[in-house]
Amino acid sequence: MKPLTEHDIRTSFVNCSKGAAKRLPLPKDLADLDHWDDLDFLGWSDLSAPDRSYLVLERAAGPVGLTLRSASGNRGFLRRSMCSLCLTTHTGGGVCLMTAPKAGPAGREGNSVGLYVCADLDCSLYVRGKKKAAPGGRMEESLTVEQQIERLRGNLDAFVERILH
Ligand SMILES: [Zn+2]
Repeated sequence: MKPLTEHDIRTSFVNCSKGAAKRLPLPKDLADLDHWDDLDFLGWSDLSAPDRSYLVLERAAGPVGLTLRSASGNRGFLRRSMCSLCLTTHTGGGVCLMTAPKAGPAGREGNSVGLYVCADLDCSLYVRGKKKAAPGGRMEESLTVEQQIERLRGNLDAFVERILH
């Protein structure tokens, strides 16, 4: 993806107030981030409130940012589960159920969409083999890395569509 500036990020959020988007914590290493080419989306957690995470992806109309929350109760961690974006299986809390409020009035009324996702939001790196999952975490697949990246982007796009509509 193209490198994002602080302004890009803060103006990209679709499912929180403009005020919240101005205040939310940015990734610590944003200025030094040098692996944009390996990212399909930028994801990070709020270090002071680890149940809050953020994700920004590129879409045709520009960057789209989402606020996410880990489900309450054991923070949504599962013993062994598969990420629904990159299809990596993790044990010991490596996948968690995150929910995103829907955009607009539906979200203000409390409607949200859930997603089982890598807790570290490093799906892009797992797909590219830049970050290793535990043994057995990545299925043997006949798809090329490019095809798996396409699938990841498609899965993420479908999630975004559910938030926007
Ligand atoms: Zn993942």
